[in-house]
Amino acid sequence: MDGYVRSKIVCTIGPASRRPDILKEMAAAGMDVARVNLSHGSFDDHRKTIRAIRSLGNVAILVDLPGPKIRIGELKEPVQLKQGDSVRFTTENVVGEGLTLPVNYDRLPAEVRPGGHIFINDGLIELDIIKVDADFKGFEAKVVSGGEASSHKGVNVPGASLSIHPPTEQDVKGIEFGVQVGADWFAASFIRSKKDVEAVKQAINEADGDQPVISKIEHGEAITNIDEIIDASDGVMVARGDLGIEVPPWDIPLLQKKIITKCYEIGRPVIVATQMLESMVENPRPTRAEASDVANAILDGADAVMLSEETATGAHPIEAVRVMENISRVVESGGALRKAQRPREGQPIPEIIGSLASQAVESVKPAAIFTVTRSGFTTLMVSKYRPSARILAVVREAKISRRTRLYWGVEPLDVQWSDDRDELIIRAVNRALKDGVIREPDIIMIVSGSTLEAPGRTSTLEILRVRDILYHAGRKD
Ligand code: ATP
Ligand code: MG
Ligand code: MG
Repeated sequence: MDGYVRSKIVCTIGPASRRPDILKEMAAAGMDVARVNLSHGSFDDHRKTIRAIRSLGNVAILVDLPGPKIRIGELKEPVQLKQGDSVRFTTENVVGEGLTLPVNYDRLPAEVRPGGHIFINDGLIELDIIKVDADFKGFEAKVVSGGEASSHKGVNVPGASLSIHPPTEQDVKGIEFGVQVGADWFAASFIRSKKDVEAVKQAINEADGDQPVISKIEHGEAITNIDEIIDASDGVMVARGDLGIEVPPWDIPLLQKKIITKCYEIGRPVIVATQMLESMVENPRPTRAEASDVANAILDGADAVMLSEETATGAHPIEAVRVMENISRVVESGGALRKAQRPREGQPIPEIIGSLASQAVESVKPAAIFTVTRSGFTTLMVSKYRPSARILAVVREAKISRRTRLYWGVEPLDVQWSDDRDELIIRAVNRALKDGVIREPDIIMIVSGSTLEAPGRTSTLEILRVRDILYHAGRKD
């Protein structure tokens, strides 16, 4: 294998990384997708951040919608909660101070019980619920294990049944914002069923958007309904932060493998997220366990690994990307990656061609597989079969082209579209030559529609010499 890294890196952008010069270095270090989490910061900040990301060229933008996640409200300043502290949670609209913490979910006091547990910040802080107010406007809890609580940190009450479903009012505003700024993907938090996914898609539609949706798997009910959710989604995120509280942490490793396998089998991109290089929030080097975690997610077959706090607020955002890129490179060159199975009978033609392309790569050893596609589906189908050659996406619309940045092994190629297929391929080959992705003596593979088929249908797999394509191009002039 060459030095090219196939697994994708998603970076959460925040105060530590939104400066244009830092973003630029992160992109150079291997960031493929920038995640903007609407649970934090203001639309104004996000708009500036997104403008800076756009100017990087083809880094894709994933806008993460808050969903029905319970969060701490605004705090005057971060507070250190210590074991034994008595904390007051309130649903009143106040700025938190000292041991009084506002929460954003009015029905929370009615849904908790004395004796139950409540967690803050991905489970870092644990409290026992002591007493609920008679008027259900708040409750008291005692800190069992302490830590720092700050504005908008997540709150989890495992087992409590949330009565709200995505998209929330805040999600709808986020969708309108995301459509306006030209998000490439949406991520939807706390998806619990296929109906939730469909409702989010409908809201995107109503806002005149056509962005694909990544369902974040972070609730026990989502595990129960996992098949229908993956089926209805355009991608999936194993959101281990919340998931690891909703279910016990020791359930996470096998759940992660199970979810990745399902995505892998039906061809949905899947991201593994949260605490991947957690210690790098402070330290310039990861722990051995963290390096193994990233490696194992890639070996499990994930399309992408994600950085959260490491890049949003951490001290070493660029270094964290470099570390992920290095782990991916070494794991991939070890050759132990998963291979998708052969397609079953009756699968769509692009899928069969995707599988054939992957098999042919072993004998042909092409410099690249060019996938010519309008919707990006063909590219996804080639990616699904995990060929060892790099996959180039030649796409008509820039927005579809950027979406493919999330797919395993895929690089979009910046080519001016032409409905004349041969002309388009000549342009793509010239572009790839200029970018140094291929050279004249190379062999390449092309997956595309046939001139005998309706446009947009993939039906051909060609194996060609770059030199011969250039010869024909010369004769065309
Ligand atoms: P989620 O469950 O959606 O992952 P989260 O609270 O864990 O929510 P992350 O996106 O994982 O949030 O980011 C990790 C932390 O980085 C956040 O808790 C927050 O403190 C900080 N952060 C992220 N984005 C921003 C931002 N735009 N502005 C300020 N702080 C941010
Ligand atoms: Mg998180
Ligand atoms: Mg979450």
